[in-house]
Order: sequence, then structure tokens, then C-alpha cells
Amino acid sequence: MQCDFQCSYCGEWNASDVDESAGSLQEYAEDCQVCCQPNVLSIRFDPRQEQFVIWAERES
Ligand SMILES: [Zn+2]
Repeated sequence: MQCDFQCSYCGEWNASDVDESAGSLQEYAEDCQVCCQPNVLSIRFDPRQEQFVIWAERES
């Protein structure tokens, strides 16, 4: 399922391909396609919206 997240460094929107079979709570790092900085993505499935919601944080 394709989901968007906003880069925590440059604010640009990126698309991430979330693996639905990996569960309703996921966390992984993905580089921004614009500024190439590593974002740590926290993904959870929102059953009301019936889609994944992604929260992006800077890698500490
Ligand atoms: Zn960026």
C-alpha cells in the first residue's frame, strides 16, 4: 500500500511502499528522495481511515 510521509528534514512529501503483511505497527528507516536524509518512519494502521498513517522523525 502506497503511503505518503513528510520528510522531517526538508518537509517534502515522499511516497513509501508499506508492506501490509508486516503488521499494523511498523518502524523502519527510509531516506528522503529529495534531500537524502534518513527518516525513521513509525507506521500504524488506522482502522477508521482504513489506511496506514506514517510519522517521520529524524534519526537520532
Ligand atoms: Zn527531505
